[in-house]
Amino acid sequence: TTRVIESLALSRRPVRLPVTLEHAAYDVVIGTNLISRAGALLAPVLPQKKAIIITDENVAALYLPALQESLRETGIESRALTVAPGEQSKCLSTYETLTDAILKEGVERRTTIIALGGGVVGDLAGFVAATTLRGLPFVQIPTTLLSQVDSSVGGKTGINTRWGKNLLGAFHQPLCVLADVSALSTLPHRELVAGYAEIVKSGLIGDAALFGWCEKNGDSVLSADPDTLTEAVRQACAFKARVVAADERESQASNGRALLNLGHTFGHALEAELGYDGRLLHGEGVSIGLRLAFALSVRLGLCPPEDLARVEAHLRAMKMPASITDLPYSFRVADLIAHMQRDKKMQDGRLSFILVNGIGRAFTSRDVPAETVHDLLVEDGC
Ligand code: NAD
Ligand code: MG
Repeated sequence: TTRVIESLALSRRPVRLPVTLEHAAYDVVIGTNLISRAGALLAPVLPQKKAIIITDENVAALYLPALQESLRETGIESRALTVAPGEQSKCLSTYETLTDAILKEGVERRTTIIALGGGVVGDLAGFVAATTLRGLPFVQIPTTLLSQVDSSVGGKTGINTRWGKNLLGAFHQPLCVLADVSALSTLPHRELVAGYAEIVKSGLIGDAALFGWCEKNGDSVLSADPDTLTEAVRQACAFKARVVAADERESQASNGRALLNLGHTFGHALEAELGYDGRLLHGEGVSIGLRLAFALSVRLGLCPPEDLARVEAHLRAMKMPASITDLPYSFRVADLIAHMQRDKKMQDGRLSFILVNGIGRAFTSRDVPAETVHDLLVEDGC
């Protein structure tokens, strides 16, 4: 019976989520054991049976052989370029190493770049694909929860510079995204929780039913149950796809894609203060930022306190950080506010925030008084 159950699991049909944009349409395929079936899933969409896989050392050790084997089975020839794991690989020198290796072999215009890894690999490989020969076909195989629900959908690619994160980049939509939830079984728990914060965020921005679903199923998501993960990734990608379809290039100043930054102004300030050194994961900063965005909205009289209480209760129940005092580091209010003022989203010197009228009702505000933010941070123990 074990074998029967295993083969049932293997043959379970993946969920296909279509993403329809003005100049591109593609599927996000979500399910179990997709990496080992990648050849069959990708063969219909690749313009040529040739691919270059970009991955990192951690992911290569776990999933590269299975991916290459499955590509080979369908006659897709591939070679792999592996970078060091971590944010520091999203840089100009790695970009140069990769493009150099690709061009040296005389890459053809129809060869597909496949990103196999988390958001770092996705952003980096996507930028390589967007710029090499003015654009190569691109496929995302995200292997972290964050990249499955966030970075692999929407077409933003890029690298960091000494002047800040993601400052060199391009919009480049993939041909296809394969979100294999089986790959999440090897992800460190802390990374899983960090990705989950972006799912909770989606619900809080504009999908109250998704937040309600999280309240019921969060435990099961964080225990990496494959069916619950598939459903969580599907809902979060569907939400992001709707937002991206309405505002593909973040040209709307206030609503649209900008709302995806709920909780991020606070989160980025905390990350920046720690120097992006990995002590605080992005999703952990977002988790704290979500509660602070609700608390700020309550302070401004815009959101019922019950909604803040529900958000905080869920974060606490999931053992996610919800307050600055949950971190073993101290911050100065003035430093955090200075970071918020430097945030690239600032316009005309006003503090700009995504606020909420309640769960699932986010909006952009450009004139939040710095004093209110100051008082909130002091109250939060900063
Ligand atoms: P990451 O890519 O650094 O992955 C986190 C760690 O997990 C790495 O050490 C990686 O090697 C390891 N890993 C990946 N998959 C694994 C697996 N299945 N099993 C075991 N280990 C695994 O980090 P991330 O959180 O996925 O992505 C963060 C990046 O995403 C940031 O650079 C951020 O700017 C970017 N991002 C981009 C967008 C976008 O729209 N393009 C959106 C959000 C975030
Ligand atoms: Mg984010």
